[in-house]
Amino acid sequence: MAMKTTRRSFLKQSGLLTAGTAAGSLAALGVDLNTRRAMATELRIRNTQAVPSICPYCAVGCGTLIHVEEGRIVNIEGNPESPVNRGTLCPKGAAKFQLHVNPNRITHVLHREPGGTEWEVWDLEQTMERIAELVKETRDRTFVEEWTGPDSEGNEITKTVNYTPAIFSLGGATMANEWNHIHQKLMRGLGVVAIENQARI
Ligand code: SF4
Repeated sequence: MAMKTTRRSFLKQSGLLTAGTAAGSLAALGVDLNTRRAMATELRIRNTQAVPSICPYCAVGCGTLIHVEEGRIVNIEGNPESPVNRGTLCPKGAAKFQLHVNPNRITHVLHREPGGTEWEVWDLEQTMERIAELVKETRDRTFVEEWTGPDSEGNEITKTVNYTPAIFSLGGATMANEWNHIHQKLMRGLGVVAIENQARI
């Protein structure tokens, strides 16, 4: 209900505007910002289809609603029905709409030869082949089967080690447990021992 405004109360409320937050002061003037925000959001997504999805940025896996209009994403927000985030998103997740609409986003693989100055567009198949080729070549070239050195009492011993010191694996925070499990298996199978993860949260 709108409050009655007298000259005295108006000056008092204007003082609040400078001293406090704009939102708080508008609320003091009887303006319900939450309702207006909700109305603006409703208008923005009125004719859209809401598609439930998951934030791609990290392994927290917050639920999102992607609003689509004529095949075009027009809005992304937290899904209130997700038990993980209950409609909330962290600042990075809240900005993910621009991941889709940003014209600067690179959507294809760029390759530059060692020592080269020009970027060349590669397709994904060719890129995967090249990565697999380099991993295999590096692993075979650097594989160490045995290590010889002193034990704790100074006696020279030889041990089977079966590893490569030339490959490092860095996982991303968006990798889920299942992916990490399979990834570890692959890396250990190749003999990679330097395995890390950039867990952002
Ligand atoms: S915490 Fe942030 S980045 Fe991670 S899933 Fe949730 S919204 Fe995305």
